[in-house]
Amino acid sequence: MQIYDTKARKKRELIPREKGKVAMYVCGPTVYNKIHIGNARTFLSFDMIRRYFEYRGYEVTFVQNLTDCDDKIINKANEEGRSPEEVTEEFINKFINDMHDAGVLDPTIRPRATQEIPEMIDITQTLIDKGHAYEVEGDVYFDVSSDKTYGVLSGRDVEDAESGHRTLVADGQGLEKRKRAEADFALWKASKPGEPSWDSPWGKGRPGWHTECVCMSKKYLGLPFDIHGGGSDLIFPHHENEIAQAECAWGQGFANYWMHSGMLKINDEKMSKSLGNFLMLDEVLNQTDARVLRMLTLQTHYRTPLNFSEERLTEAGKALGNIENCIRNLEWLIKNATDGEPTIDGDELVELIKKCKDAFISHMDDDFNAPAAVGEIASFSNELNKIFDPNKTISKDDSKAAEKAKDLLVELFGVFGIDLNQNSENNDESVPAEISSICKTIGIEEAGTLDKTLEKIISVRAEARKNKDWSKADKIRDEIASAGWTMEDTAQGTKIYK
Ligand code: AMP
Ligand code: ZN
Repeated sequence: MQIYDTKARKKRELIPREKGKVAMYVCGPTVYNKIHIGNARTFLSFDMIRRYFEYRGYEVTFVQNLTDCDDKIINKANEEGRSPEEVTEEFINKFINDMHDAGVLDPTIRPRATQEIPEMIDITQTLIDKGHAYEVEGDVYFDVSSDKTYGVLSGRDVEDAESGHRTLVADGQGLEKRKRAEADFALWKASKPGEPSWDSPWGKGRPGWHTECVCMSKKYLGLPFDIHGGGSDLIFPHHENEIAQAECAWGQGFANYWMHSGMLKINDEKMSKSLGNFLMLDEVLNQTDARVLRMLTLQTHYRTPLNFSEERLTEAGKALGNIENCIRNLEWLIKNATDGEPTIDGDELVELIKKCKDAFISHMDDDFNAPAAVGEIASFSNELNKIFDPNKTISKDDSKAAEKAKDLLVELFGVFGIDLNQNSENNDESVPAEISSICKTIGIEEAGTLDKTLEKIISVRAEARKNKDWSKADKIRDEIASAGWTMEDTAQGTKIYK
């Protein structure tokens, strides 16, 4: 498998540290607010990556932290007159619910920064002892000039880092004035009265953000682990500073591969509160099937910026609908397989199945090229729809190949966390409103599931035709048509579909 490594600036063959196992760490959210669809894009990308590793037989240890100790949390708690714990508790629960609603798998381990403080004090002390950090009035800073390889990940030199930090540290607390150089960053921060704090050799304080992730990844994965990931906005300063801290403190490699997903934009603009185009994940999921949001994210490569718009969401819904339609056609065909002369060749199907699966794997093995893999599935289902003219039949024997085609669609979308069985006949899909009202008009009782109800409508019409009650038979067909559904008499009987 080829993986694009941000640090190497090229694709590299995946060689896990332990055969058959992948150890990965993906930076989690700072829990002071609900997550927006930009955050969701990053979490969905890494969920896709993790699921694909598992599909390829790797045992994945996926660690994702919760940043529950941060200036933003303290500010929010102060603004609302609540304790930081109340704020983080609320948004941790909300985050986990949102992730479940989006179909994202739980991490193997979900550590919280506030529960890992002793390790953070240790690394800070180690860096002071080794001459890479210094204390000023209870704050401890990393001395960037002491790290000769600083900038390996982002390609920035110390001067760039200084201008980057100038804006980042301008938090009104004058912290930067206490530093020896502007590029230096806080490993440990002195707490003000009333702020969350822990005892340390430098007085009461709390860890810096980079310190948190470095310690949690080492503790739960060991060094060096395979993959460290996050959104591309974390390359600098967060991940650059994590590398500096880890390598200077522990004198060994930190993460073997660095993966970053592209940013999400809305209607080609950066998402920002001032532009009023800030969309929270839960708002989107209130109106959209989570599978459609996932389909949208799959249509752009995970490293490319993703443009979110209503139109693209509608297109993604249609693309998913086409695949679901193909599944329904396959199910219908399998159910109506005949012993008579078949007109569909099972061997042709087996060929198509193999071609689709091979192409899917080769696209995904090439740095998780999901858009190409989805494109492959779409052409597979188009081919199937071409073969499955409703007037054609399949033999009982060849219907096994049709089963396999259906299984492949379900399997490959399953890799993406999209359950295609959700609306298939195997499930008890409820009867939609328009079919309910047809039942009322023609005077029959619904039969519980959609499938059974459609069968009942078909048999009532067949009965009417048998009794030469043409007006009733026609009325049923007209009612179906005016509801936007199609009733078709085929070689294998009558079919109703949308
Ligand atoms: P934060 O809570 O700000 O640390 O963000 C959590 C994750 O969401 C990080 O991996 C960020 O890189 C990612 N993220 C933030 N904004 C966006 C965005 N607009 N598009 C994609 N990912 C984002
Ligand atoms: Zn992190």
